[in-house]
Amino acid sequence: MKLCRFNGTRLGCVQGGEVFDVTTALDVLPEVRWPLPARGDLLIRHLGPIRDRVEEVLPEAAIVDIHQVSLDSPVANPTKLIGAPVNYQTHIDEAEADEGIVFDQNVIKPISESLCFLKACSSLVGPGQGVTRSFPDRRTDHELELAVVIGREARSIARERALECVAGYTMGLDMTVRGGEDRSIRKSVDSYSVLGPWLATADEIEDPNNLDLRLRLNGEIRQDSNTRHLIYDVQTLISKCSEFYTLLPGDVIYTGTPAGVGPVKPGDVLECEIEAIGTMRVPVR
Ligand code: MN
Repeated sequence: MKLCRFNGTRLGCVQGGEVFDVTTALDVLPEVRWPLPARGDLLIRHLGPIRDRVEEVLPEAAIVDIHQVSLDSPVANPTKLIGAPVNYQTHIDEAEADEGIVFDQNVIKPISESLCFLKACSSLVGPGQGVTRSFPDRRTDHELELAVVIGREARSIARERALECVAGYTMGLDMTVRGGEDRSIRKSVDSYSVLGPWLATADEIEDPNNLDLRLRLNGEIRQDSNTRHLIYDVQTLISKCSEFYTLLPGDVIYTGTPAGVGPVKPGDVLECEIEAIGTMRVPVR
């Protein structure tokens, strides 16, 4: 099932290129008062009952033109946006050859040493909001990545069982200001974490470690690879991160970007595509 959020408060089910408005399915979510009784994203935590209810309301659902809606991040309230740095050899090679990427970090630490970093949740947007570039005098790059959405609490989960805690997959843009600051701040600028266009539930993806991914900048292909080239694959990332912190429903792992990163400027359009998930169009302002 492909579930999208649109126009701020609506829930959609995407089938055959059309959005079915299934917002009434949200009625199965518990009403909550502060402080929230359970951590994590409420919808992702209750994805099972939501999916059952979506199936029930689908036959009566209004169809909305997908080009007329503003798509929001498919996850509304993650507690963590986890990023995997330099997780494709081709990106390591291009970074080492480009001072604009490596900046003053003389040596790029391999993922086996650095593992992951966190992006601020306040940087999260959907394709409908797009990227608003900050720091016009500095280089801001696009990084297309497969994004994994965690479905249930997981702590110290074995690699072999890691996929059991996945709710689904979506596309991520890990937008990045190049420079000397820590990744956790350069990649956390408002709107620099894009997710979309929807959540493809885990049952839709046979093997997350064998998906083509492609990014076009103003129609020109810039990134073109496959997740089989990930250095730490999806299971390894989940397992290793869960050794450090409890993964919660709605937490997102940006799995890393292949070669082809490059600067964006206002007016640019990023067209992103990942096999079995879909495509999304992200404007840069
Ligand atoms: Mn990245």
